[in-house]
Amino acid sequence: MTYCPKCGEKIPEDALFCSKCGAKTIKGVEANVPGPSDELKAALNKMSLELEKAFSVAAKEINAAFQTASENIQKSLKKEKIVCSSCGERNPNNAIFCYKCGKKIKTK
Ligand SMILES: [Zn+2]
Ligand SMILES: [Zn+2]
Repeated sequence: MTYCPKCGEKIPEDALFCSKCGAKTIKGVEANVPGPSDELKAALNKMSLELEKAFSVAAKEINAAFQTASENIQKSLKKEKIVCSSCGERNPNNAIFCYKCGKKIKTK
């Protein structure tokens, strides 16, 4: 057994690449094998970039959904309340008379 010069992972002595981080081992360097690690890294980078993009799109959609939901809640809350033109008290939407001052609420 030997160790990866980069991440310290235990790797077989005849390994040319680290099984964990993909770095070329000393043996790999000695053997002068073309490194798939760079390609792998590029692929991983690309993948993570795409994932990041997908996540940020999803996050935006979630934010928009939350915003719409909270706007709808606020709208429905406003709908449920009718303000008394006499005392300014908030009454239920179906109120005809103000529950606080007893005056008839003018509905538009
Ligand atoms: Zn490693
Ligand atoms: Zn009132």
